[in-house]
Amino acid sequence: MGLVFASAASAQTNSAVPIPLKVFDPSFIDTSVNACQDFFSFANGGWVKRDTIPAAFSSSGVSKDMTDRNELVVRSVLEDAMARRHSMPAGSTVAKLGTYYASCMDTARAEREGLAPIKPELDKIAAISTRAGVVAEVTSLQKMGVNALFNFFPSADPKDAAHYIAWATQGGLGMPDRDYYTKTDAATDSLRQKYLAHITRTLVLAGESQTAAAEAARKVMALETELAKASMTRVERRDPNKSYHKTSVADLSKMAPAIDWPLYFRSSGVTAPIGFVNVGQPEFMKRASALLTTLPIEDWRAYLKYHLLSSASRWLSTPFVNEDFAYNSLYSGAKELLPRWKRCLRSADNQLGEALGEAYVAQTFSPEAKAQAKQVIDDIRASFRDRLQKLTWMSDSTRRFALAKLESMNEKVGYPDKWRDYTKLRMTDGSFVTNVQNADVFEWERIANRPGQPVDKTEWDMTVPTVNAYYDPSINEMVFPAGALAPQTFDATGDLASNYGSLGGSWAGHELTHGFDDEGRRYDAKGNLLDWWQPADSVAFTKQAKLIVDQFNGYVQVDTIHVNGDLTLGENLADFGGLVTAYDALERALARTGKREVIDGYTPEQRFFIAYAQSWRSHTRPEQLRTRVKTDPHAPAEWRTNGPVSNMPEFAQAFHCKPGDPMVRSANLIPHIW
Ligand SMILES: [Zn+2]
Repeated sequence: MGLVFASAASAQTNSAVPIPLKVFDPSFIDTSVNACQDFFSFANGGWVKRDTIPAAFSSSGVSKDMTDRNELVVRSVLEDAMARRHSMPAGSTVAKLGTYYASCMDTARAEREGLAPIKPELDKIAAISTRAGVVAEVTSLQKMGVNALFNFFPSADPKDAAHYIAWATQGGLGMPDRDYYTKTDAATDSLRQKYLAHITRTLVLAGESQTAAAEAARKVMALETELAKASMTRVERRDPNKSYHKTSVADLSKMAPAIDWPLYFRSSGVTAPIGFVNVGQPEFMKRASALLTTLPIEDWRAYLKYHLLSSASRWLSTPFVNEDFAYNSLYSGAKELLPRWKRCLRSADNQLGEALGEAYVAQTFSPEAKAQAKQVIDDIRASFRDRLQKLTWMSDSTRRFALAKLESMNEKVGYPDKWRDYTKLRMTDGSFVTNVQNADVFEWERIANRPGQPVDKTEWDMTVPTVNAYYDPSINEMVFPAGALAPQTFDATGDLASNYGSLGGSWAGHELTHGFDDEGRRYDAKGNLLDWWQPADSVAFTKQAKLIVDQFNGYVQVDTIHVNGDLTLGENLADFGGLVTAYDALERALARTGKREVIDGYTPEQRFFIAYAQSWRSHTRPEQLRTRVKTDPHAPAEWRTNGPVSNMPEFAQAFHCKPGDPMVRSANLIPHIW
């Protein structure tokens, strides 16, 4: 199938009725597959055989199914806000939400206006004539959310987790990772050629001649290649110590003298005094500064123009939207655009998520569901505590710190206690691009003056309808949005064993273990980057973790490309720790409740493992798998299932697998970390 482009006249696609989801679904099982040979295919193969990835998606499965359902709820919230926006007080959050969504859905306006919404900024870029002017424009674009040169933002100080510090980190690339600029294989080279062609076409759409656009594209590529070469790899960035360089402003001015830093802070709207900046990648900042000094100003004009266009294209008229989609589909494999309402909804969730969250929760998440989910999480905590207490390789000194860290680990379940105040957000009835930029400016101004302030521990990094969860090492907390706490993850009225496999293993156990994975273990109970490990314990941990690195290096990701065991180590540790902990929690819950019945022919232990495997039910396009091997710290779903279960004797026992079966790894290869 070729690419299907949006057309200005296309009708809105009707939303599909979502399929009812179960935490454990026997109809997904392929009974022709032996569970001991390939457990992922056993648990999900029935579904995989029937599934076709919809054209607008790069993958299908649990995440897509749950997101589709959640988005129908969010859509009703947005449509209601849109209908009521003129009858509500103008400054109210509902009116702003309605205005945002209405301006996004106004495709006639986007077609009519073409490039007009970003014309003033393009004119500013065209008029840049000095090096100081380049830096001023970088600053201005960053505030609007454009990916220009580097990232600047406040976040917790890794060595003083109670306070924010300003961060300056590598950024500014148009391809998804620095490796795309540095790898020399034919496939990567072909993507670089396609990127050049995309930049050229984008600049032609913006009015440049073919020759001028091609020349400008080469300048953009050359500039980004220099930035890429000075960027750290994703594997290097997994070590938080390598990205910690607390630097005084005086030293920063020596490191990157092309930027007048006090002026940069002022222009960014930072009025708080900034004494120090955490420079994530000093080599990158040095190179960026050198390029600001040496490259011709016209190269910078080309670079900034392309990045402004790239950032706005998806919301401009159809030729821009299609060009942007065609480029991005090289990485996602998607064959057609998502319907407009989904694109608008995702933008609203991304930018104004907490304005949506309150209404979403009222419709979807009951106090009973919250209480049940918390019970599972409590059992996970207790089981992990038991495991820590029994670890033979860990010294008592390290163990005391580990137990204290577990004890003080915070959790957030469902939705925030207080919702964000959107009073200062400006929304207009004008172009959607302007509202997107307004929302970016609002967000920037909300946080810009945080450096030096105490960290706000009530904040959420994911919105409520999100089908995901996270562990934040700088606060030592795990967070589970309501959008994830529903079938297929969890069913408050459903089978206990299945809930422990899915919510317990893939979610709660997984996030909790992140606090103790190769990255999380470097932070203490309060979130400070501080080594609390006895040296011998660190050595023992690393030796065990190496078994997981080797295990995943052995798996094929796509084509002949193997999984990157180093890049995915933290997630693979979290999966394995999550599953073994959840298994203990299941036994704890079974002992408490006595619910040992066989359902659909499967024992509680079997349903536990099947629900775990089904929580990874997915089907992914090869283009997406190729992108993820470079950019995604998660291994493919198949290995997130088969990897951990084949390290568990309890699995072999539950399914009567024998030594030598593919799902039974030999004892000397099995890590004993937790
Ligand atoms: Zn994770």
